[in-house]
Amino acid sequence: MLKIADYEFWFVAGSQFLYGEEQLNNVARDAQAIVDKLNASGKLPYKVVCKGVMTTADGITQFMKDVNYHDEVGGVITWMHTFSPAKNWIRGTKLLQKPLLHLATQYLNEIPYATIDFDYMNLNQSAHGDREYGYLNARLGLNNKIVYGWWGDEEVQQEMADWQDVAVAYNESFHIKVCRFGDTMRDVAVTEGDKVEAQIQLGWTVDYWPIGELVDVVDAVSEQAIDAEYAKLSQTYTMNPQDNPAAKFESSVRYQLREYLGIKKFLDDRGYTAFCTNFQDLKGLKQLPGLAAQLLMRDGYGFGAEGDWKHAALTRLLKIMAHNDRTVFMEDYTLDLRKGHEAILGAHMLEVDPSIASDKPKVEVHPLDIGGKDDPARLVFTGADGAGVDVTVADFRDGLRIISYPVDCRKAEAETPHLPVAKQLWTPKVGLKAGATAWIEAGGGHHTVLSFRLSEQQIHDLGTMLGMKLVEIC
Ligand code: MN
Repeated sequence: MLKIADYEFWFVAGSQFLYGEEQLNNVARDAQAIVDKLNASGKLPYKVVCKGVMTTADGITQFMKDVNYHDEVGGVITWMHTFSPAKNWIRGTKLLQKPLLHLATQYLNEIPYATIDFDYMNLNQSAHGDREYGYLNARLGLNNKIVYGWWGDEEVQQEMADWQDVAVAYNESFHIKVCRFGDTMRDVAVTEGDKVEAQIQLGWTVDYWPIGELVDVVDAVSEQAIDAEYAKLSQTYTMNPQDNPAAKFESSVRYQLREYLGIKKFLDDRGYTAFCTNFQDLKGLKQLPGLAAQLLMRDGYGFGAEGDWKHAALTRLLKIMAHNDRTVFMEDYTLDLRKGHEAILGAHMLEVDPSIASDKPKVEVHPLDIGGKDDPARLVFTGADGAGVDVTVADFRDGLRIISYPVDCRKAEAETPHLPVAKQLWTPKVGLKAGATAWIEAGGGHHTVLSFRLSEQQIHDLGTMLGMKLVEIC
């Protein structure tokens, strides 16, 4: 798996001097206790670091500046244990350039009727402290995340965990570099886009490289390196030569492994974490990268077919958010419009990520009937059952739009003996007719990222953080 930087999140409690030094010590103690227990829960994917109590505008401003300049900090978590006058937060919060989570919680999850007194009330003021603080964030138009509820509840911890994954994806979005081998497919509109706008809005670097430079690297891969990869492949997947003569099958598979190792080296040497190919632009390559693209996606690289750099970047971005768990480049391939069966069959000619396979993928070699190249090797498998979310990005003159719907995924209803591709069936939760109509109306294309791991809420939070126009079909 392509590595993701190890982030941490800084936690502070808001307070003031009104109730004396002793109460501030209590605030610090309780904040540390919450952080320790959150870390010990094992629920959060990234560590939380307690940075103490914030009481003054100068202190808060310095804290936010420090957050901005520490690359390992993924975002800030704030909690108002007492009343924290929100004017103190204005300057610092305006300077903050990272995701902000307002944890609207209370130290105890009950009202201690028998013992409650004014000492208790001087300390435990989240009920109104959170509103004072929230007012300011709303007024600044911050689009911060609010997680409300007792910090010890599993549901609250899960919401925090989901937000951490989104926040890390947000930070990593500015490091995504897409390598375009060739241009986009001729005449196609939806794969085009404004690469400058994508870099301004989402941080994506999108570069062109001539296919000839890749060919040099692919051709230089050693036979020994391919031998080792072939052995690994035979152990992981089922080799299925069918009618192909043994020598033809093996040489086709070996050529895809040559492409896999060559593309990987090309990307790694230049710091790219996503790439796209175009079957119209393969001069010097013997096969369209099929198995090669599938193995690279499995490893965590982003990919878009037909030169689709937007979905190459989106695949990488959502893979980071999902820890590379069942989150894949996809295409709306063909439809089942019969009543009671309404569904989209998702696939691609070759390039479907095997991380959603519910059976053991088979390595097969078949003609492609497109592009005029040698028969490419690919992994053929069946997708999985379960809830998911399907996401696309479309480019308009007023910026990039993120369009999504929650979906129910199923295995294809039957085998397709004459269509040797990997397949996944799904239906939008709002129904195929309503879902697809809204999708088409919003300008959503046929390339998507399908995830079994991410939620619609996370896509909402990501789009909000990135300042994208959201179209949520749910
Ligand atoms: Mn396509």
